[in-house]
Amino acid sequence: MIKTDICIIGAGPVGLFAVFEAGLLKMRCHLIDVLPQIGGQLSEIYPHKPIYDIPGYPNIKAQELIDKQMEQIAPFQPTFTLGERVESLQRQDDGSYHIIGSDGTVIHCQVVVIAGGLGCFEPRKPDLINLELYEKSHVHYMVKNPERFRDKRIVIAGGGDSALDWTVYLTTVAKEVTLVHRNDSFRGAPDSAEKVYRLAQEGKINLLLSHNLVSLGGNGHLEHIQLVNKQKENIVVPTEEFIPLYGLSPKLGPIAEWGLNIDKNAIEVDTFDYRTNIERIYAIGDINTYPGKLKLILCGYHEAALMCQSAFKYIYPDQKLSFKYTTVNGVNAF
Ligand SMILES: Cc1cc2nc3c(=O)[nH]c(=O)nc-3n(C[C@H](O)[C@H](O)[C@H](O)COP(=O)(O)OP(=O)(O)OC[C@H]3O[C@@H](n4cnc5c(N)ncnc54)[C@H](O)[C@@H]3O)c2cc1C
Repeated sequence: MIKTDICIIGAGPVGLFAVFEAGLLKMRCHLIDVLPQIGGQLSEIYPHKPIYDIPGYPNIKAQELIDKQMEQIAPFQPTFTLGERVESLQRQDDGSYHIIGSDGTVIHCQVVVIAGGLGCFEPRKPDLINLELYEKSHVHYMVKNPERFRDKRIVIAGGGDSALDWTVYLTTVAKEVTLVHRNDSFRGAPDSAEKVYRLAQEGKINLLLSHNLVSLGGNGHLEHIQLVNKQKENIVVPTEEFIPLYGLSPKLGPIAEWGLNIDKNAIEVDTFDYRTNIERIYAIGDINTYPGKLKLILCGYHEAALMCQSAFKYIYPDQKLSFKYTTVNGVNAF
């Protein structure tokens, strides 16, 4: 079991800044995120876009902001569980919580901070016969560990940036790569599409445009995928792993079942300290709602600071909190 003072659900910019504010008050944090990487929407949706409304940075690329935040919180040694969705939470007799992840991880904490943004990014699933038979073993909606595909035959499906980028990357890892797309042109960045066309011309990948997915098949384990082309001909492609990359759509997910007051997919909070209706559970960043709420990174940072001042009493019930500027106290590493 992982033990920490504060368990932060969501490793987006707001969850990361909460680590900094908590660290100033000597509170330790563990973060858990369903995505395989840190950074929330910034790293997942728009890593290369410049942001213009972060104080002190006339413009900064989204991924660069996340990298800077990681540098800023390093002294407080936060720990992470990535690629795991929080499913449930159990209140303990002493008021603390167990947070339970989809792979069985248990985090014991005094305070829960939900910084879940728009919610879990759930994969858009293809309509395909036998999908559920192989879903747990051979179907991958995200590439968490490219090594999983070393020396294997793989089929990637999709026409966006993820499908293109992973096709290019996995060509250097897998034995045989097939990219299937239902249209005859790609949605993703033109330079990535160019790389894919070049790989196809060089015979390094098998590119099947204007093909639709029909079914998965095999004997116990995945052996082939059946497709149909524009002329309604059936094609069978041998494969060991299937990677459908049709994008992710955010859903509030299991958090909606925890008894929190929810309004239009967001958690209602008290703006005094961003607590929810359940004691020791706070909600900050895009996931919360209150009159006048703006879904902006800087608003989430403010909420994180106030939340930490309030959470302190649960972690150090015998201590009086005295507010200090960083210019006075500095940043004292753990
Ligand atoms: C294209 C685009 C451009 C934008 N531009 C700007 C801008 O210029 N300026 C600005 O201020 N804002 C901008 N935003 C908004 C900004 O990205 C959000 O306000 C910000 O990401 C909110 O941060 P967060 O940490 O609250 O949530 P998120 O960044 O959404 O991170 C939440 C994390 O929680 C995880 N999570 C959710 N539920 C669970 C669960 N049950 N278990 C495990 N993990 C979970 C998610 O996987 C996610 O990684 C933009 C947004 C988009 C999409």
